[in-house]
Amino acid sequence: MAGLSAQRDAAAADVAARVLEWFDVHGRHDLPWQRPATPYRVWVSEVMLQQTQVTTVIPYFERFMARFPDVHALASVDVDEVLHLWSGLGYYARARNLHRAAQRLVEDHGGEFPADIDAVESLPGIGRSTAGAILSLSRGERHPILDGNVKRVLARYHGIDGWPGRTAVARELWAWSEAHTPDTRPDAFNQAMMDLGATVCLRRRPLCGACPLAADCHARAAGTPEAFPGRRPKRDKPVRATRMLLITRNDGRVLLQRRPPTGIWGGLWCPPECDVDADPAAEASRRFGLTLYGVHEWRPLRHVFTHFALDIHPVRADAGPGTAVMDDADLVWYNAGSGDARGLAAPVARLLKGLEDP
Ligand code: SF4
Repeated sequence: MAGLSAQRDAAAADVAARVLEWFDVHGRHDLPWQRPATPYRVWVSEVMLQQTQVTTVIPYFERFMARFPDVHALASVDVDEVLHLWSGLGYYARARNLHRAAQRLVEDHGGEFPADIDAVESLPGIGRSTAGAILSLSRGERHPILDGNVKRVLARYHGIDGWPGRTAVARELWAWSEAHTPDTRPDAFNQAMMDLGATVCLRRRPLCGACPLAADCHARAAGTPEAFPGRRPKRDKPVRATRMLLITRNDGRVLLQRRPPTGIWGGLWCPPECDVDADPAAEASRRFGLTLYGVHEWRPLRHVFTHFALDIHPVRADAGPGTAVMDDADLVWYNAGSGDARGLAAPVARLLKGLEDP
């Protein structure tokens, strides 16, 4: 064991030196959250970057910072405003958790990130890797990270088989990340590993010729970089179906309903839904006291989530005069052109756009 650990230490030091040397020349040094890299800015960027590319995140990050420049600003607003700024980024639980965590930071820590990594990790939506990234990138502390990019680089370099969602595989990857993270410049090293994964060790067709780890990379030597990391065991995605009622009033406003706080698109605004087999006119009458005119179906659209696909069957209709339904906390006649800040899932935003230019 002592031999293995000495071997690991030697290999680790060498990897860090090579990766840092590469980073100083080729790394990304001008990302918006690096100027300045406060814990708050790093945190928001890390959460946005989970499941989302840098180029997509940048404009969202800029808008978010302009509206919520610090933890206090974020904690003080209604979650609706946060979801509105998140609209289109997907994985909305991230936005709800961000908001809840900001409130916890204000209530329990005076708006500052705690020094203790366990306390950071206990905040909603912050896992071990995000906590490590926040404390290392903003404060230069030595904490390993293991986001998707780092997993890919380490799995390939060390030839670690298996899907990282499995505990044994994750444990091995964490051990290597821990071993490689240097005492000096751990912040630069973490950023370097993320950059290496994002710009060189690409998911498809990695640019091994430009990689500082190419000389002794296991996957490269085997000629199979794309085989690492192992894929999640395949399961067919179930398909669910829903009908969305796109009901407009004669002033052009469309009826939206707030979804429950948990579940898909939790807290976002959606046209009323019903079973695909239900009669839209009967539903509108029973639930909202509305009489519908000009009811017709639109082409269905499919939205794919991580665990299932959703077939949306839209029905378009006009509400007659004397519309009974009134605005309340969870039901609104929405005016898209009024600058009304509400969170809308991407397919819903697309449907509403279709109402503007049918
Ligand atoms: Fe990835 Fe190729 Fe570098 Fe190996 S040599 S870490 S596969 S880019």
